Amino acid sequence: MGKKPVLSIQGLCKSFATKEGGTVTALDDVSLSVDTGEFVSIIGPSGCGKSTLFNIIGGLLTDYEGEVTIDGASLDGPHSHIGIVFQEESTFPWRTALSNVALPLELAGVPAAERHDRARELIKLVGLEGFEDRHPAELSGGMKQRIAIARTLAFQPRILMMDEPFGALDEQTRLLLGDKILQIWREIKQTTLLITHNISEAVQMSDRVAIMSYRPGKIKRTIEIDLPRPRTSEVMESAEFGAYVGQIWRELRVEASRGMHEAEKGSGVVA
Ligand code: ADP
Repeated sequence: MGKKPVLSIQGLCKSFATKEGGTVTALDDVSLSVDTGEFVSIIGPSGCGKSTLFNIIGGLLTDYEGEVTIDGASLDGPHSHIGIVFQEESTFPWRTALSNVALPLELAGVPAAERHDRARELIKLVGLEGFEDRHPAELSGGMKQRIAIARTLAFQPRILMMDEPFGALDEQTRLLLGDKILQIWREIKQTTLLITHNISEAVQMSDRVAIMSYRPGKIKRTIEIDLPRPRTSEVMESAEFGAYVGQIWRELRVEASRGMHEAEKGSGVVA
């Protein structure tokens, strides 16, 4: 695996004005890089700045201090090299699974035969072969999320960025979808950044987990996950897995309690 960063974040700071006329520092001197082919997770309690960071990397928030580069080029607005998968349902209900996945290729002017071939390959990659002609209403939540992932991969993004992609799913579907994502990652070596508040999910999938502190949001610590690959959800049964979860929770616990305490005091906006 090469060690060339796809994404590099240096000294990122972002504040917001509050309704009360003050300011809240959402991100304070955040630096992080994601190398080619790496799977990195960012984990932190509610209100630590995960969405702010996600919006900056996604090019949706452009007013910040610091530098964000993709393949060495400064980020300036939404970038076609970043493929984003959101937590919410994002398939188009009137389109079949195949034409949902083919949509970015259609918008890019790829001829019908070619885009359908490529969309079929992606549907196979996410394990939905045979469901090409179904509409989202006929698919489960996990299947719809796999369609959304396949559609995002159709762009061939340099980095796939997922914000709580399993957030709306039940626990068993989350585990199965996690296995699927690991399999896809293995097959296409997709550089991936996952934003989550779920510790097990982060440990199961990542090469590195960056832990954020609560207000101001900083990267408090980065932990290398040295568990053997290929991994599946079975890795969760190992003692090493439990040790990583425990180590991350010890770091997060103090942040999560500070967040809860401030929310109870009503001392600020809490997401
Ligand atoms: P997370 O996604 O980890 O829950 P956010 O990035 O949503 O955290 O928020 C980080 C901090 O910035 C929080 O204190 C939140 O209240 C504040 N914040 C986020 N967006 C805004 C905004 N548009 N205006 C004011 N404050 C904001």
